[in-house]
Amino acid sequence: MGELRGSVAVVTGAGRGIGRAIAEELAEGGARVVVNYSRSKEPAEELVEKISASGGEAVAIQGDVSDAGQAARLIEQTAERFGRIDVLVNNAGINIDRTMRKMSPEDWDRVVQVDLNSCFYTVKAALPHFVENGGGKIINISSFVGQAGNFGQANYAAAKAGIIGFTKTAALELARYNVCVNAVCPGFIETDMFAGVPEEVQEKIKARIPLGRVGKPREVARAVRYLIEDGDYITGQTLNVNGGVYM
Ligand code: NAD
Repeated sequence: MGELRGSVAVVTGAGRGIGRAIAEELAEGGARVVVNYSRSKEPAEELVEKISASGGEAVAIQGDVSDAGQAARLIEQTAERFGRIDVLVNNAGINIDRTMRKMSPEDWDRVVQVDLNSCFYTVKAALPHFVENGGGKIINISSFVGQAGNFGQANYAAAKAGIIGFTKTAALELARYNVCVNAVCPGFIETDMFAGVPEEVQEKIKARIPLGRVGKPREVARAVRYLIEDGDYITGQTLNVNGGVYM
């Protein structure tokens, strides 16, 4: 069984939303958590204070993970600070939604750069640390959109589908080092990303979800924690936390 207590976990894009919930969940389990942020310094530092106030240990480290150099620096700073890395959660993500008629090559590139390429950058940088530790857990946050496709999200769907292919390949390559690599595919979750959807569209979305509601960030975080604590024999999988919106 994976031990969370005392482990070192990096969560990218953890200033708010799902990443924040994951950081809180892992800290509650006793992990020492790196709260990565790109621009939102205040929320990240506020989260670190909140975790510390409830007896946990966390540190905020700035770094735009869509930049290979900054992603590598995030991992190096983590190793310098804590001496090891046991868990990497690639959560940072953005969306720039437009139908393909209106989507520019820059819209395409930016989303793929942030949502997909960042995963390769952080995993590549963390790999020597996992090998040195004799194992670890990597969880990549994909989306049901990467499985089902979604109108106006060609860039996002491609990036999120890419994460699933990357996850399976990383699982194959890293199994020999005792590193388990899995993807979590959330459905619609109550975060700023979802709040940006117009209200009438939100209602239509809810009507499509068999469980009749959008999910909570903590419900995704619990799945991530499960993969870390109980997922020693689970690798290369996608765990769907989506209220049944995609089966
Ligand atoms: P959010 O916009 O609330 O949070 C995303 C976080 O990532 C923010 O803190 C942002 O600052 C950070 N970030 C963005 N670019 C970054 C970069 N280059 N480097 C470092 N950090 C960066 O979104 P969320 O809803 O919490 O989404 C988190 C993840 O879950 C994303 O990968 C998203 O695609 C995925 N997801 C969300 C939903 C949903 O309905 N909310 C559904 C499926 C998947």
